Amino acid sequence: MKTNIDYQSLLEEIHAEVRPLIGQGKVADYIPPLAGRSPQHFGMSLRTIDGNSYSVGEAHERFSIQSIAKVFNLTRAMQLEGDDVWKRVGREPSGAAFNSLGQLENEHGIPRNPMINAGALVVMDIILNHTDTGEDLILDIVRDLAMEPSIDYDLVVAEAEHETGHRNRASAWLLKTYDNLDNPVERVLQAYFRLCSLSMSCAELATAFHYLAAAGTSASGAVVASERQVKRINSVMLTCGVYDEAGDYAYRVGLPAKSGVGGGIVAVMPGEYIVTVWSPGLSEKGNSLVGTKALELLTTKTQSSIF
Ligand code: GLN
Repeated sequence: MKTNIDYQSLLEEIHAEVRPLIGQGKVADYIPPLAGRSPQHFGMSLRTIDGNSYSVGEAHERFSIQSIAKVFNLTRAMQLEGDDVWKRVGREPSGAAFNSLGQLENEHGIPRNPMINAGALVVMDIILNHTDTGEDLILDIVRDLAMEPSIDYDLVVAEAEHETGHRNRASAWLLKTYDNLDNPVERVLQAYFRLCSLSMSCAELATAFHYLAAAGTSASGAVVASERQVKRINSVMLTCGVYDEAGDYAYRVGLPAKSGVGGGIVAVMPGEYIVTVWSPGLSEKGNSLVGTKALELLTTKTQSSIF
């Protein structure tokens, strides 16, 4: 582990460098409550595996984590079913948009990976097979991981997605025609929209994802996943976590990462730290523009990446 880095000064330096860029990009407008968010926000947190936290900007402001939650979803399904998860979802980068439908048809109802919407719907279906209500299968775990019991779903966001999520509904029905959803379509969609609506801050996310940098052990010391499972989750994040920007990401940032259309990104430096960033202006591919720049600056300035 690199012990001689002054992360606080480094984050402040990065914040100063990206400040002129904040506001660039386009806020996700297909989910009405997200459309109202200003692109002017910026927050960043870094938490080392020995428990030191560093933050700049609005690192403690909660935002809609959206697809970042797909990592909690996958982790939970792997806890419940281990490698059987891969019987129903692939682990290849999609090279397509996160809500692509054409690919699902071409691949006969097996989504390319668990980080795109169709894949997350299947993973949610796997989890729902283990419960009658489905409500708390993920929320309790996220609260424990972040050591923050006040974390919750934003039901206004979940409801808005339920009303406007026509593409997700189409994906779910397509999955159903291929017999790759066991539960009723509406049940899976509701649980999925709730999952996407989780509201968390950069600092909370950095604590919650501790286990991905620490071989499966959470910030509070609980074993959440095996070392082998963590290797797998990180590899899927690297190849699929930022959709069809994964190649550019590996090239520029060099860390496994997962983004959400709320403008958040979580990235993992195994054995060292979790870094999280939030800025709602998105690239065309749906990843935070300024957030990506901040992560690129971090790995450039520390001269370290997984490569
Ligand atoms: N809830 C969003 C959707 O289903 C998540 C997309 C994302 O964050 N990339 O479209």
